[in-house]
Amino acid sequence: MTRRDDAIAALERIAYLLEREREPSYRVRAFRNAAAVVGALPDAELEERSRRSTLHGLAGIGPVTAQVIAEALTGTTPAYLQRLETEVPPIAEAALALRRALRGDCHVHSDWSDGGSPIEDMARTAIALGHEYIVLTDHSPRLTVARGLSAARLRDQLDVVRGINERLAPFRILTGIEVDILEDGSLDQEPDLLAQLDVVVASVHSKLRMPEREMTPRMLTAIRNPHMDVLGHCTGRIVVGRGRPESEFDAAAVFASCREHHVAVEINSRPERLDPPMRLLKLAIETGCRLAVDTDAHAPGQLEWQLRGCERAAACGAAAEIVINTMPAGELIAWTRTT
Ligand SMILES: [Zn+2]
Ligand SMILES: [Zn+2]
Repeated sequence: MTRRDDAIAALERIAYLLEREREPSYRVRAFRNAAAVVGALPDAELEERSRRSTLHGLAGIGPVTAQVIAEALTGTTPAYLQRLETEVPPIAEAALALRRALRGDCHVHSDWSDGGSPIEDMARTAIALGHEYIVLTDHSPRLTVARGLSAARLRDQLDVVRGINERLAPFRILTGIEVDILEDGSLDQEPDLLAQLDVVVASVHSKLRMPEREMTPRMLTAIRNPHMDVLGHCTGRIVVGRGRPESEFDAAAVFASCREHHVAVEINSRPERLDPPMRLLKLAIETGCRLAVDTDAHAPGQLEWQLRGCERAAACGAAAEIVINTMPAGELIAWTRTT
């Protein structure tokens, strides 16, 4: 069956386009699952079932995916895919160019905290995506719901990362953390340990609704901390489901401080966050801040989300040069060492 690859490609392309359109993940998964089922089917059975139109009798294949497969197997572009290709707007060339310029991802979780996969799986997926490095940024101790790492566990993690890096060279897992910005603006990890890490992302995860007159000094105190390198998802908003409003803070003051203290403002590419909102992203760029286009991936597949952040950066006219993860690892580390 020479068209098997066409059917798999059509199903995966549909999944990709649905994901870009932020369709619910169960719909995306249905097409990815069907692609896996087609991939695993013996030639004879695939032929037989497509001839008798009984593909949808297989576990993991429903009427819609069966139709897509049947059409692809006859050598035509499935109607479902054709429709999606015309409906989903093309990605701007500037966004694609920025994505190509990215060498790594500065915000990635593993199963050491609330991620779903081992460090090495995340790294191998990043390699497949063409990255030269990722920064491993598991959570800090106070975020107990996310199994934040104590100082001792983080030290253990540093040893583990060293071992994995020996196997995966020249790819590099840079050491890091997503450290909580506590209510008083201090960072939730031992300063000596923060000083050792390559990249420190700091984020607000608690008391997101505190009044502006408290939130602004809280963030400014953190940004002045010499160990902080990236301000993670600055508003904390959630844009899907019931959602969560933006935290209130003096954005002009916060971004001015980021520029002054060499702290990059993160563009968080997670579809439910897309943080900062466009008006604040534009303000950060106008202020002269550096940016980090990150996925905040908690699973290997989520490492692909970076393009979404690139689209937002490109739409705001951000040059590749201001994005810190367009730098090679060595330059990035040198940059984070400047306080
Ligand atoms: Zn976070
Ligand atoms: Zn995170």
